[in-house]
Amino acid sequence: MQFFAPTHVYLEKNCVDNHKQELLSYGKRAFIITGKHSSAVNGSLADVLAVLDETSVPYLIYNDIEENPSVETVAKAAAEGKEFQADFVIGIGGGSPLDAAKAIALLIANPQEDACCLYEPKDLKALPVIAIPTTCGTGSEVTPNAVLTRHAFKTKKSISYNIYPELALVDGKYLASANGRLLIHTAVDALAHCVESRLHAKANVYNHMFSEYGLSLWGQLVPVLEQIAAGPDAVPSSLSDEDLEAFMLASTVAGMAIAQTTTSLPHAISYEITYNHGVPHGKACGIFLAAYMDEYARNNPEDVNRVLSLLGFDSTESFGEYLRRLLGSVAITEEESNLYADNIMANASKLSTYPFPIDREAILRILTCSLDVTA
Ligand code: NAP
Ligand code: FE
Repeated sequence: MQFFAPTHVYLEKNCVDNHKQELLSYGKRAFIITGKHSSAVNGSLADVLAVLDETSVPYLIYNDIEENPSVETVAKAAAEGKEFQADFVIGIGGGSPLDAAKAIALLIANPQEDACCLYEPKDLKALPVIAIPTTCGTGSEVTPNAVLTRHAFKTKKSISYNIYPELALVDGKYLASANGRLLIHTAVDALAHCVESRLHAKANVYNHMFSEYGLSLWGQLVPVLEQIAAGPDAVPSSLSDEDLEAFMLASTVAGMAIAQTTTSLPHAISYEITYNHGVPHGKACGIFLAAYMDEYARNNPEDVNRVLSLLGFDSTESFGEYLRRLLGSVAITEEESNLYADNIMANASKLSTYPFPIDREAILRILTCSLDVTA
């Protein structure tokens, strides 16, 4: 049994300013990695620039990270970071910029390598990474993973290196600009992390502390999210600062849970759904949770009941109906569901995260119970 969580995490209002000395201690030339718009709107980029400007630390901003960032994007950004001679990387945004920041930090630190090394088993170290999340789902600020889109393989996959951020600065105020749909999708990603980590071949009492606490925190968000789902296009003005911080807390705790175990089958299947249908990450994972738990309960109903009770549901049916109300549905063809089942069955490392034997029929059941499958 082991436990490893090396990231120094702060979660509080005005976190970046409060911890600027520590932020500045990681390097002298900062490479800022962020998305196209949101960090300029929600104040996170301005908070970081204020600290760097105040102390005249040179920086370069790369603000062209797309959702589900690709290997190609990461390589392009890394080339700019190398030229700038960056010695630390600050990721600001959702999981996409944070994951990209980790991969970019690895490539800059190893200028002799090209992007192929991201998926090779080499002994490479990355530049220090500081992570400032602005969504409440991936927990990337505390996990070692960096999931990239691999167009060559028509799917997404985490790179082969464990890159924990040195420092995570978490502030709920950055969520104030998020619309309801983004809050729902990313919060459901955090839910999936708690469920998949709790029902995992590597689950142990250490990670139960995080997955179970995350599930009980998430249980408190259940009615809040139901309210948000009633008008998801709008920014939910009814949310208090405390609500926003609670969303961030659930997300970091869920990240701490998967940092000990990895994710499991719902995430593995989700990558195909996101790649082929453009379904946002959290929705693509959440849509499978109830059917996954049904499958798991065939072998271990006690653990599934434990998850349900921490969340405040009395059955996988009511849990699944709730998630459908939050997420809506996803349609795929029968041909696709067969292909995805084959792909999962060929993914030995993901299958090994499931603690029981599982066959193609079971994977197909998860797919067909979760999605609208058309002929
Ligand atoms: P995201 O792809 O980072 O961002 C989604 C959208 O939200 C973007 O359009 C972004 O805009 C916008 N956005 C971000 N923060 C916002 C805010 N505060 N207000 C308004 N809009 C905001 O979404 P994500 O769900 O956080 O990350 C998904 C990625 O993380 C996937 O690639 C997934 O595979 C990965 N992931 C990683 C881990 C891990 O352990 N490392 C775990 C789970 C998932 P801009 O583009 O303008 O910024
Ligand atoms: Fe996830």
